[in-house]
Parts: sequence; C-alpha cells; structure tokens
Amino acid sequence: MADQRFILAIDQGTTSTRAIVFDHAGRPVATGQKEHAQIFPRAGWVEHDPLEIWANTREVVGEALAKADINRHALAAVGITNQRETAVVWDAATGVPVYNAIVWQDTRTHQLVADLGGADGPDKYKARVGLPLATYFSGPKVRWILDNVDGARARAEAGELLMGTIDTWVIWNLTGGPDGGVHVTDVTNASRTMLMDLKTLAWDPEIAADMGIPISMLPTITSSAEVYGYGAKDGLLIDTPIAGNLGDQHAATFGQACFEKGMAKNTYGTGCFMLMNTGTEPVPSKHGLLTTVCYQIGDTAPVYALEGSIAVTGSLIQWLRDNLQLVDSAADVEALAASVDDNGGAYFVPAFSGLFAPYWRGDARGALVGLTRYVNRAHIARAALEASAYQTREVLDAMEADSGVRLIELRVDGGMTANELLMQFQADQLGVEVVRPVVAETTALGAAYAAGIAVGFWAGEADVVANWAAGKRWTPTMDAAERDRLYRSWKKAVTKTFDWVD
Ligand code: ADP
Repeated sequence: MADQRFILAIDQGTTSTRAIVFDHAGRPVATGQKEHAQIFPRAGWVEHDPLEIWANTREVVGEALAKADINRHALAAVGITNQRETAVVWDAATGVPVYNAIVWQDTRTHQLVADLGGADGPDKYKARVGLPLATYFSGPKVRWILDNVDGARARAEAGELLMGTIDTWVIWNLTGGPDGGVHVTDVTNASRTMLMDLKTLAWDPEIAADMGIPISMLPTITSSAEVYGYGAKDGLLIDTPIAGNLGDQHAATFGQACFEKGMAKNTYGTGCFMLMNTGTEPVPSKHGLLTTVCYQIGDTAPVYALEGSIAVTGSLIQWLRDNLQLVDSAADVEALAASVDDNGGAYFVPAFSGLFAPYWRGDARGALVGLTRYVNRAHIARAALEASAYQTREVLDAMEADSGVRLIELRVDGGMTANELLMQFQADQLGVEVVRPVVAETTALGAAYAAGIAVGFWAGEADVVANWAAGKRWTPTMDAAERDRLYRSWKKAVTKTFDWVD
C-alpha cells in the first residue's frame, strides 16, 4: 500500500532495547531506546528479566512511532534482531518465565559443558553444529534451568514449557503470547544453540537428548526473511507483518551488505564480533572460530559465515566507568587515553567471562600486566582500548588462516566505533583499512532489510548494496616493527590469564 513507507526494526540488545523506524533509503527516521537491568546474582552469572525486556520492547516501539509521528499503518513490516544465545524458558499457558533469562556472557554452565564433552572434549559436536562446547551457547543454559528450577523438567516434558532465545520470546509475545503467539526462531539464532545441524538446518535429536532438552519445547526453525506472523489484536502493531529475524551479529553483517564471499564486518559493542561471509557451504574452523549461519532469505540457499566472538570489549569500558570510576562516561575514555602517547607498557586482558575466540578458555580470568610505577590511569584507559584492537587482530589472523582470504578492508559498526583513537589503532594493528558506514546502526538496519525484502518493500540484496555508503575510513600508519612488538607483548599477557578456575 502506498502509505506503507517505513520498516520498523526492534533491536533487543544486551544493555538496551531499541526500536528504529527506517525509510526506503535505509535511513533511520526515529529511535526509541531503553536500558534494562543487568542482574549479577553471583560471580560469573548474568541474568535479565524477560518481562522487563518485553515491557521495554513495547515502550520503545511506542516511542519510535510517536517520534516518527506515524502509526502501524505506515509500516510495511517489522524486523527483529537480538542479543544471541541468551535463553528464556516460560510457561506456554501464562507467558510467565520460570527463571530469569540467562545471558550469553554467563559462565554458570562451565562444569555442565565439560561433562557434556566428556572424553570427547569440547569439539564433540563441532562437526555438526559448528561450535565448541562452551558456556556461551544457549542449549546448555536451558539444561541448567531444567535441572535447577523446581518442577521445570517435568513441566517441560509434559509440554507445558517453551524455550527460546530473545527473538523467539519477543516474536511470541508480539504475535499474541499465550493467545496464539507463534513460536519460531530463525536459522541464525538456532545456529547458536548447539542444537541445530548446520547442514540440514533442523534440530539434532541426538544432541537434544544428550543435553536433556525435550524437542517439544524448541521453536520452529524458519528463514531470516519471511512472514512469521502478525502483530496481535490488542498490541501496538496490530496486523503488522513480523517478517525479519536475525541474531544481532548476523543482522549487522546483512546491514553492512557483506553479501559476497570473503566480505567481513566487525561490531564493537559489549563484546566484539567479526563475521566473514563464506558462501553457501559451511567452512569448518581449525583456528578457534565458529561456523555459523550468516542468513537465509526465504527458501533460498542459506549463506554461512565464520565468526570470531570476543566476550569483553565495550563492557571493559563500562567496567572502568562503573567499577573503578576511572571515567564518568564511556566517551570520556578517549580523551583520557589520548593524554598519553602509548600504553606505558601496560596490557589489559579482559577475560571476565573466560576467553572466547580463538582460545575458548572458560578457566581464564582478567589480568592487567606490565605494570611499573610509571603507569597511570591514562595508560590503563589506553590499555583497555587497545585490548579491543589486539583481540580483533587475533580473530582476523584466525579468519585469514581458516578461509585463505586476505582481507582488504574491515567494515565496522557498534558503539565503540565512535572512538577515533581506537579505530586508528585498530587500522594500525590490522594493517588494513577500517571503514565505518554512514548509517552505523547496522544491526537494526539489517533486521529492517530482511523484513523489507520478505514483504517486497525492497527487491533484494542489490537494494541493500545500493543504500550502503562509506562514512569514515582509517588508514594504517604505524610501522610494522612497532605494530608487531605491541602484539607480541599482548600475546604474552594473554598467557597470564589461564588456569584461574578449576
Ligand atoms: P550493545 O549493542 O552490545 O549493547 P553498543 O553498540 O550500544 O553495544 O555499544 C555500547 C558499548 O560501547 C558499551 O559497552 C560502551 O562501554 C562502549 N562505548 C560507547 N561509546 C564509547 C566510546 N566513545 N569509547 C569507548 N567505548 C565506548
């Protein structure tokens, strides 16, 4: 219809929920945003309240529509993107969660995943699901809930409970909840559960049985771009097609128009996540990366990616702000770091959730090393920023080794890319150009594109490519010897973080 001029994207992230209205040129028109509580019941545990997330989702959708001065009639479709691997289990009849959502950063399943691997070790299921056994993924979190919440297992086996990642939770609620809500997830989110076979794109019954998760509580797996259902009768988005769904990192890859094999993006948010499109065949990793579904549009062939996930980058800056009170705001870290010429010999390895790619060491914990009396707070700020760049270099090295592709430029996005000092240092460390697009909200944009393509608002990937435009570029200037000296010291620092947890 002629008046359906916009697409709404809901980006349910780790720290906040955003709703963004996009126009046909892929430009953001209006945004609603709200943070939710981070719940830390014990060291290593991270939870969110799913009901708070759902309430915030409704609120930010209302806010974005109000700011854009439109209502649902102006929307051609809604796309969803979400923090991945965060798992919720709820009662199908009431919509009440049986426990808080267990967040992707949570390490409580450390022993559980070690036991699941048994004599076969962490790569037991890797050939089938593309992932090593690690605390990061959603399947074992559901197992933990079924094992630890009174009566949950019996209720799950009786078909009373549903599980989902946050996309599933939001879509189920948007489409009616207990009153006819659709229970779906897309291939990208499903590829992070450890329960989906990467080649068949179906739940693997054997792994589900090993993990003690009844298949009946799992959502239906769909593509990333098709109409899943419509907004419920009594909601804000009545009858509006819900038509796009991608995990946040996959959505950002889509929004960055990385549609050709060998193209890659890195998102600098709470953590850092680099994805490289590897085409229509999954590429197994020998260097500590994940094999994952990049996206699937309707019934076309799925496209796969190699991914390097880094747990802690932007959240280290939050930690400097909140736990050390070193800065008043995340943005202030740049001026503090820029007040010194270098890191003064200090290296900060933020292994707060163990180390993810390329190490996958659940036993690692953070370390600040290389300290002398010379080191001051500015050096620590600098070391914290540099940590994002070194970790990214480790992932890029692994990606080039696995794929055989030498990257010529890295497309970047996320909150930390506002930090010019970091972006320049990143280009220097990688020795490749770093480029940030004009629209840096690529995660929400990717979900909008998927939904828009599903309903014919955009014709296909070519429209996304046409809308993508480079905003700012950083070119490497550091000499190779200095670049490698710093990186060698970083590598040494990493070795100091191992073996802190039995
Ligand atoms: P997410 O989507 O994971 O919640 P965002 O993309 O919104 O994250 O990025 C927010 C993260 O970026 C926070 O962890 C914050 O500490 C960090 N951040 C924001 N601005 C800056 C800055 N100018 N310099 C360094 N880090 C920043």
